[in-house]
Amino acid sequence: MVDLHDHNPPHQVVIVGGGFGGLYAAKSLAKANVNVTLIDKRNFHLFQPLLYQVATGALSPADISSPLRSVLSKSKNTKVLLGEVNDIDTNAQQVILSGEIVPYDTLIVATGAKHSYFGKDNWEEFAPGLKTVEDAIEMRRRIFMAFEAAEKETDAAKRRAWLTFVIVGGGPTGVELAGAIAELATKTLKEDFRNIDTSEAQILLLEGMDRILPPFAPELSQEAETSLTQLGVNVQTKTLVTNIANDIVTIKQGDDVKEIAAKTVLWAAGVKASPMGKVLTERTGVESDRAGRVIVEPDLSIKGHPNIFVVGDLANFAHQNNKPLPGVAPVAMQEGEYVAKLIQKRLKGETLPQFNYVDRGSLAMIGQHAAVVDLGFIKLKGFLAWFVWLFIHIYFLIEFDNKLVVMIQWVWSYFTRNRGARLITGKETIPSVPIESNGHYQPVKTRQPINV
Ligand SMILES: Cc1cc2nc3c(=O)[nH]c(=O)nc-3n(C[C@H](O)[C@H](O)[C@H](O)COP(=O)(O)OP(=O)(O)OC[C@H]3O[C@@H](n4cnc5c(N)ncnc54)[C@H](O)[C@@H]3O)c2cc1C
Repeated sequence: MVDLHDHNPPHQVVIVGGGFGGLYAAKSLAKANVNVTLIDKRNFHLFQPLLYQVATGALSPADISSPLRSVLSKSKNTKVLLGEVNDIDTNAQQVILSGEIVPYDTLIVATGAKHSYFGKDNWEEFAPGLKTVEDAIEMRRRIFMAFEAAEKETDAAKRRAWLTFVIVGGGPTGVELAGAIAELATKTLKEDFRNIDTSEAQILLLEGMDRILPPFAPELSQEAETSLTQLGVNVQTKTLVTNIANDIVTIKQGDDVKEIAAKTVLWAAGVKASPMGKVLTERTGVESDRAGRVIVEPDLSIKGHPNIFVVGDLANFAHQNNKPLPGVAPVAMQEGEYVAKLIQKRLKGETLPQFNYVDRGSLAMIGQHAAVVDLGFIKLKGFLAWFVWLFIHIYFLIEFDNKLVVMIQWVWSYFTRNRGARLITGKETIPSVPIESNGHYQPVKTRQPINV
């Protein structure tokens, strides 16, 4: 093993994870009298709130990714290490990567969460979730491949299944995916195919609760449902998915059980903590919740280990309103910044009051031209909400290059309704072509309406 310990350091802060929590902690420590090592298994920070735009061909992966080295290049006290942390030795105060150990005086764990299938992990094969760039590319492949396959399909029922898109989960990601696919089908792709009418695609958004966007005010949930319906999305609430297999989604609505034939099923429901949560519980004895999130103290440290902090999606902070804070970017950013401040205070022999999250509101985009914004004191919908959504997302994109590129792409697609990043990449699965007995490709001649 290589010991990366520098034997002449000031206080050593190790941050595991360069997402919103870890990166904001590192940035807040840039001028502190400490040495910072930020470790991430990827060499870039990913702006996950815009992943759905990669999945639907509006943006490219690089538009929403920022190289961690470049983001932190001006933080001279900070080094970035590419690697996956798989263990922690709390006695020796070291984190363990494959082939390396990195000592710490203070450790911040910010490894986030991933999607969860509520124990039905076999659904993942049929219904991919959205968390990484690879997930977004896989979703993009499935969405655009479905239209290609429908164009070649001669059997009406099969074509209907290719043109049926089921999105499971009516939270912001599900709403944004459903709206974007509806825009694709009814506007972007409308003139591009010859054998199918893409606007006949069915987009179903399934939600278990009695309304979509449960964290928003009820009137905004209603507004979102109306806007989605106008775009052509079929919103089904109080709907539980009981099985996903072989192009069939089984749903339960009250006592009714129905089957939906759909070739494209996208998962936007449920999250569970990253595996570092388990490592922490095993090594420190700290408790975790059902989703594997680590129960943290009011200052975001771990019980009995005041020099180990957990921030972001991996943390269960329930010291405000007696319920855990939501897994959203602002929580992770504010937690990262708080811990950075607390470390500096402690080095001066001082402390801070407990962490207090300031909720500035929630936003969700619906298609390309509308959004809902709940800022608590004001609720916005339609164009104004869309503009606020755009401004906030541009503002929080980490690097100036990304801000510029994304802004230009959005303005361009606003006027043209085009989505330039419609690449089918990844697995090589070209839909089979119906062949006539004479060996020639048989185009579909009739357009048939579809219904579920
Ligand atoms: C599709 C999607 C849409 C979303 N939309 C919104 C939205 O609109 N608004 C909003 O506020 N929030 C949104 N969120 C939630 C938001 O992105 C998260 O709350 C936020 O990213 C959490 O930050 P984090 O730092 O805890 O984790 P992450 O940002 O997930 O970062 C974790 C980092 O840790 C690294 N890592 C993981 N394990 C290891 C390891 N063992 N070793 C080294 N590195 C490791 C990962 O590579 C990653 O860089 C969305 C999330 C998703 C997936």
